Order: sequence, then structure tokens, then C-alpha cells
Amino acid sequence: MRNDCIFCAIADGEIPSFKVYEDDLVLAYLDINPFAKGHVLVIPKLHSQGLLDTDDETLSAVVVRVKRIAAHVKEVLGCDGFHVLQNNGEAAGQTVRHVHFHIVPRWTGDPLNFVNHKGDMDELAALAERLRM
Ligand code: AMP
Ligand code: ZN
Repeated sequence: MRNDCIFCAIADGEIPSFKVYEDDLVLAYLDINPFAKGHVLVIPKLHSQGLLDTDDETLSAVVVRVKRIAAHVKEVLGCDGFHVLQNNGEAAGQTVRHVHFHIVPRWTGDPLNFVNHKGDMDELAALAERLRM
């Protein structure tokens, strides 16, 4: 837990989240300002800043969960595809300095432009319930 880290605060339960999945090592929750419906963030509970300072064991655990969660999101939402995104450094658009993987569902022909849209809290709560594993 890093004091100044919002994702550590979420992992620690100090800040609420629209939780989709949790185990000892990993937490997944809806992005509150999603690119698209069903935009999920997957984080290790252990703080690291980005891909390069995450230990291999933790990273392996996270990536395996990313696969499992993406499969679940695809099945529940019936999307045609999805992105897995992971930004490193300000230059790459990283705004939260706790390593995280984005799962962003895609539907054929959808107009996604990788812009955050302010999430509706009621919709996010209902969606998290549908997606909860
Ligand atoms: P990145 O640009 O890769 O650092 O992505 C950070 C993401 O975290 C953005 O898409 C934000 O919308 C999302 N985000 C920031 N704060 C929260 C929060 N409290 N709960 C859920 N998602 C968040
Ligand atoms: Zn952190």
C-alpha cells in the first residue's frame, strides 16, 4: 500500500470501486470513466508503478487473470472483440502510477475513440453486478 496511490487505496478498500473480481493478488473493477461499456481495470494488489518494475511472478498472475476476466466480459456482454491496454509513463498517457491493464470491449463497427466518458454511477453499479465473478 502506497499512501499517495489511489489504486492502492482501492485495493485496500479505503476507496470504493465497482468490483468485478478479487483474489489474494489481483483486483479488477470498472473504470469509472470508461472508453466503452464494460471497460475493466485489472491491478495487482502489490504496488508497482508500471510494467518494468512489476516482479515477474506478480505480472504472470495479473496477465492470467486478465485473460480469464476478458473471456468472462466477452461472454457476458457478447462483445465481438476487446483491447488489452497497459500504459507506461506520462508520455504514453499513464495517469495513475499503479500498474494496471485495461480491458476494453469492442463491437463490430462501434465508434470507440479511446476517450474517457464520464461514467453514470447507477449504470456502473448495475454493470458491475452483471460482470461480477
Ligand atoms: P491510465 O491512463 O492508463 O493511467 O488509466 C487510468 C484509468 O483509471 C483511467 O481510464 C481512469 O478513468 C481510471 N480511474 C481513475 N480513477 C479511478 C477510480 N477511482 N476508479 C476506477 N477507475 C479510475
Ligand atoms: Zn498503488
